[in-house]
Amino acid sequence: MRQYDLVERVRSYNPDTNEDLLNRAYVYAMKAHGSQTRASGDPYFTHPLEVAAILTDLKLDDATIVAALLHDTIEDTEATRAEIDRLFGPEIGALVEGLTKLKRLELVSREAKQAENLRKLLLAIADDVRVLLVKLADRLHNMRTLEFVPEASRRRIAEETLDIYAPLAGRMGMQEMREELEDLSFRTLDPQAYDVVMQRLDALAERNRNLIGEIESQLARKFRDHGLTARVFGRRKRPFSIWTKMERKSIGFEQLSDIFGFRVIMPDLESCYRALGIVHTTWPVVPGRFKDYISTPKQNDYRSIHTTVIGPGKQRVELQIRTEEMDQIAELGIAAHAFYKDDIGSPTELLKRESNAFAWLRHTIGILSESANPEEFLEHTKLELFHDQVFCFTPKGKLIALPRHANVIDFAYAVHTDVGNSAVGCKINGKFAALSSELQNGDEVEVLTSDAQSAPPSAWETLAVTGKARAAIRRATRTAVRDQYAGLGRRIVERLFERTKLDYADDKLKGALPRLARASIEDVMAAVGRGEIKASDVARAMYPDYKEERIVRYGSKKTAAAAAKAAAAPTAEPARGAFAIPISGLNSGLPVKFAPNGGAVPGDRIVGIVTPGEGITIYPIQSPALKDFEEEPERWLDVRWDVDETTPQRFPARIRVENVNEPGSLAQVATVIAEHDGNIDNISMSRRSPDFTELTIDLEVYDLKHLSAIINQLRAKTIVARVDRVNG
Ligand code: MN
Repeated sequence: MRQYDLVERVRSYNPDTNEDLLNRAYVYAMKAHGSQTRASGDPYFTHPLEVAAILTDLKLDDATIVAALLHDTIEDTEATRAEIDRLFGPEIGALVEGLTKLKRLELVSREAKQAENLRKLLLAIADDVRVLLVKLADRLHNMRTLEFVPEASRRRIAEETLDIYAPLAGRMGMQEMREELEDLSFRTLDPQAYDVVMQRLDALAERNRNLIGEIESQLARKFRDHGLTARVFGRRKRPFSIWTKMERKSIGFEQLSDIFGFRVIMPDLESCYRALGIVHTTWPVVPGRFKDYISTPKQNDYRSIHTTVIGPGKQRVELQIRTEEMDQIAELGIAAHAFYKDDIGSPTELLKRESNAFAWLRHTIGILSESANPEEFLEHTKLELFHDQVFCFTPKGKLIALPRHANVIDFAYAVHTDVGNSAVGCKINGKFAALSSELQNGDEVEVLTSDAQSAPPSAWETLAVTGKARAAIRRATRTAVRDQYAGLGRRIVERLFERTKLDYADDKLKGALPRLARASIEDVMAAVGRGEIKASDVARAMYPDYKEERIVRYGSKKTAAAAAKAAAAPTAEPARGAFAIPISGLNSGLPVKFAPNGGAVPGDRIVGIVTPGEGITIYPIQSPALKDFEEEPERWLDVRWDVDETTPQRFPARIRVENVNEPGSLAQVATVIAEHDGNIDNISMSRRSPDFTELTIDLEVYDLKHLSAIINQLRAKTIVARVDRVNG
């Protein structure tokens, strides 16, 4: 901008401007700054000139424009207050000195100091509100050219702007100023979030391009039909304000009303209310959105009527209805008054009388000059900053903010616990992806759910990043395990009642709950499932003269040979109504393990034994260890293998081999096993006599057939005297 451009701009709104004063200030500042340069490499003088230009947009008076041109001269050049007083008068001298004081405040981000500096800032502007206006314009230009400043100070300046200057501009009713400061800070502090919002905003604006013009003309036509001349225009909302709204309410923006507001500018106050009547009788009103800030202005002097209707095109349309003057004050706030100064340049009676913002400022300054604790005020103006987050969207456009490194599991739980619990897959930006995929800024995530999945895999707990997801997963798995135990307990109880020919009914058990000291039937069943109480306790609670049975049904009364025969029999068919435990997958939620000494392999007839608090242990029916459970038949479960010949899984078995004690005999045994595809898990050796060695070998085999084949091959070796399967 050149000298005459500046003068032209001022003259356009102030025909009485003192051109000579402006020209002298221009030349003085340019000479004073001389060859100084800015971080960008531009001549330093471009800065005060741009600050002055910003203030011409606010239509400010000559003294303010001149103060803007001179604002850095006392601090940065040879200029003095006395010289400025002499050349431009004491009014301008005082303004420049006020700005010099502010410049000397080293604003740093440490809170206490920031609060103290804010106090000084406000005290410095106490005498003349125009100091604040120049200061804000100064900060705005510095923010616009922030890219040239080193990274470290860039952040600090942006934080300070968002913490102090933008809220202050808002408090002064300077909406435009506040919004631009916020957006520039937002872009600096969180460029990724800024980009995401902008992309979304652009896409939605493009999609609704025709609609906006359509709504504008329909509204204008409607007012014209009623003899009202209105200026109607759509205005795109600002990224930072959208962002904070999305954050605060945790909502997305998908509707036109989320990104566009419509202004209706009426010639006078009365027609504002007429326009409101026309709008409300033409389109359905969205309840709860009507606000009359004309009759009750906001604290920053803002006056307007707000309403939202389901307008043309069935779109939600947000309307702000106000007069031209109200619109000016809504945009410029206190600056709208500042031009109307009295002869000595102090705030006018109008400003003193009518401006809430000015009253607030004086009130605040009053508090600050009295109190030693400005932190409280700072707390109010401080805005939350958003660091280290990723921002994703649901297919409907709802924003989900997550910590960095979060994955789709976290996303699903952030949407809803039910979505998390039933998540089985996902699409990121339309492509199938793993649930553990780390999310990037701007990802659109569609979570695929299945009703069949009532609880998440417990392994998710370690995959999830957010505390919310982890807690929900823990809760869901705990519930699922409890349900499993309850189901198990019910089976145990039913078996006991079947066998003893007693009648079982939930109602009858309900009556017996106090005797069992449990709150519900489910609690009783889960306790039985966990082994905390016995099924016989349940029977006794329901039938006090019930005698505990001592019937032995499995194992020990049979001879070992008979048991082995039964085990080898191909008819390993489960009993009718057997309780299916998919031991191959171990995904029942209840811990399942094999008998510790000897294991079990498919082909074995097996039983499960419920162990209090532990789960189910699978024993082959011939296992002598089962003797220990004979007196608790309710702990016995018929289980079956959920595997077939194609299952590649191996199962544990133990064999005992007696072989001739000669060099290389152990190697021969190991070779036979290896040749027949058996895995040796462990070998322990003991010498029973000088001639024979006994080996106890833990194997992993596919099934009983596989195990038998290995045993037979070993028996065929001349060095082997005897081979037996061992069951613990
Ligand atoms: Mn400056």
